[in-house]
Amino acid sequence: MKYHIWTEGCQMNVADSQRVASALEHLGYQSTDHAEAADVIVLNTCVVRQSAEDRAYGRLSSLRPLKDRRPDLVINLMGCLVGVKGNPRLKERFPYVDVFSPPSDPGPLLAFLTQDETYKMEQAQTQRRYAYMDGDLALPVEERGQLVMAHVPVVYGCSHACTFCIIPFRRGIERSRPAEDVLVEVRSLVAQGVKEVTLLGQIVDRYGVDQPEGPGLSGLLRLLHPIEGLERIRFLTSHPSYMTDELLDTVAELPKVMPHIEVPCQAGDDQVLQNMKRGYTAGDYHRLVERIRQRFSGNGSAATNGSAANGGSANGGTAVNGSYPPVSIATDVIVGFPGETAEQFQHTYDLLEELRLDVAHLARYSTRQGTVASRRMQDDVPEEEKMRRFRLLEELQERIVAEINARYLGSTVEVLFEEEVKGRWKGRTPTNKLVFVQAGRDLRGQVQPVQITWTGPWSMQGSLL
Ligand code: SF4
Repeated sequence: MKYHIWTEGCQMNVADSQRVASALEHLGYQSTDHAEAADVIVLNTCVVRQSAEDRAYGRLSSLRPLKDRRPDLVINLMGCLVGVKGNPRLKERFPYVDVFSPPSDPGPLLAFLTQDETYKMEQAQTQRRYAYMDGDLALPVEERGQLVMAHVPVVYGCSHACTFCIIPFRRGIERSRPAEDVLVEVRSLVAQGVKEVTLLGQIVDRYGVDQPEGPGLSGLLRLLHPIEGLERIRFLTSHPSYMTDELLDTVAELPKVMPHIEVPCQAGDDQVLQNMKRGYTAGDYHRLVERIRQRFSGNGSAATNGSAANGGSANGGTAVNGSYPPVSIATDVIVGFPGETAEQFQHTYDLLEELRLDVAHLARYSTRQGTVASRRMQDDVPEEEKMRRFRLLEELQERIVAEINARYLGSTVEVLFEEEVKGRWKGRTPTNKLVFVQAGRDLRGQVQPVQITWTGPWSMQGSLL
């Protein structure tokens, strides 16, 4: 029996697909890259952008002839297209889909395949569902011993109501996983060869807020840190309003927690931010970036066991002989939000130019049905203008990142290697910069010092020392 999984969208979906694969392998299924050869096909979907949603519909329609030829084929539609409450219209439009599953939940598919009534009842109870999903994650066979980096969801859903965002409607309210479950899963992943875990949440820095008796994200990082064999820990995505000094101190202090912060600003204009209901101002975001940098510069209270000031950070984030920033910061920006004027866009441009962040994930606004913006705001910035603003930020960011990365030239950095790509080994620095080296040996899963010999905006090259 074979399964085939097609995944669209964010890291949370990638992690969800991994869970489905693991569960199917528990039932005796094996993975195949070819949908035509599969007995079970899972489409794990995303609706954050219209293009992603269109791809899911296209893929779904393309399976129709296969299902007609092989009625025993099981088709499972999963993820944000289905949503937490289910979507009756999908059932009408795609009657040949056998199972509809909400995001992060392999339960309906397993119940369908096993016809297990007891299990179906258990699925109705959220706590039990978590226990099943989180207790014993076995990586899919093809990833065991091969996968160096894994994503581990720690917060499901989101209770914010950013006006452009469909996530709260599709993934439900915010729920943190018990720390014990996360520990069990990370230990299990490490035992299977994983060296780096990235803790995932829509607002990961709110981890534990809904479980007052348990640890917050800082506490969780401290619990995970001693796991033997685990080399690196990252987390994403943070929300500017919840990034505490305690969390920054923890990141700066713990050697295995990487100095890379993903914290979206979305816009640099206060009125646009208010229209988005983000809950902070451009000034707040500016101060946050300063606070993060200060924490890692040797001026912050926690940067006492290694920082730019004394020539080496706790987490290997500082150049041995270079002068690159000891912490990297990534952001998300949406251009062309309803009502965004040229002047308001300029404020976003100015903010990025001033802050000089390491990464800006850029998106052009598109209306998502069901969001507050879709009901109350008019998508009134013309497409060409959205594209113009997008390109301006893209060019700005490319220049900034090229300049930041050039500061790595000649430095020695610790690189965790993931895989060989076209004869070169690919890995990442603590600050999440992509590095390629030539090596005549297997480097998978190894952390090695690398001297940087070339830098560009998107990657660097270096030599093993
Ligand atoms: S954009 Fe806003 S609503 Fe959407 S997941 Fe992030 S915090 Fe939650």
